Amino acid sequence: MLWQLQETEQEIFQKEKQLQNIPSVAAYQEKKSALQELSEALSRKEDQRRSLQKDLSRKEMHLLSLSGSLDEARKKLYSGEVPSVKELESLEKKVQVLQREKQQLEDAILNLMESQEGLEEELSRMHQRYREEEEELKRARSRAKKDFEQVQQQLQELKSRKEELEGSMEGDLLARYREMSRGGRRCISPVRDNFCGICNVSLPSSFRAFLFTPGKQVYCENCGSMLVLMEEDS
Ligand SMILES: [Zn+2]
Repeated sequence: MLWQLQETEQEIFQKEKQLQNIPSVAAYQEKKSALQELSEALSRKEDQRRSLQKDLSRKEMHLLSLSGSLDEARKKLYSGEVPSVKELESLEKKVQVLQREKQQLEDAILNLMESQEGLEEELSRMHQRYREEEEELKRARSRAKKDFEQVQQQLQELKSRKEELEGSMEGDLLARYREMSRGGRRCISPVRDNFCGICNVSLPSSFRAFLFTPGKQVYCENCGSMLVLMEEDS
């Protein structure tokens, strides 16, 4: 029973380690943070789209008023109503300046529209990717949950078994075992073919007789482990 307790405790230790290192749980967490990053990138892109849209509207309004001023200036220039040559020259210059400005503004608007188109395409690709990764994350989550619960269940079973074993053992023997196994080291050694199961040293033949004496505690002289006979040996 002591040996079973020891082995159960070793298994519990392994299971607890396993519980912290489930591959599907790690994969889920990785996917989750990747999706979070994608969501942040998406929101930055959408900010970019908004500011581009704002810039475009502002430039279009500006173009509208500029075209108005240009039409007005041209109309005045060709109306024949301007009497002085000096004034005409200055008006002509103004028309030229406005025309240049309008041309530049139209070019800028065209560039912005091209950027906008590219941005829309990129955003639509990102949204598509987001939806796909979101679905994948859901699947990864249910896989991780299943694996985690399975290991947890196994751990629970091992713990109940440990409690059962402890409950059916003598208190002082259990206390002795606790003392010897401090720090999680193996201290109950199953004897196999007269060898210590822990340090593998050959045991003197006198030990065999001791091992068959009920209630007698026998320890390996080499490693200090408590020697126990396994069922198949007895
Ligand atoms: Zn030994």
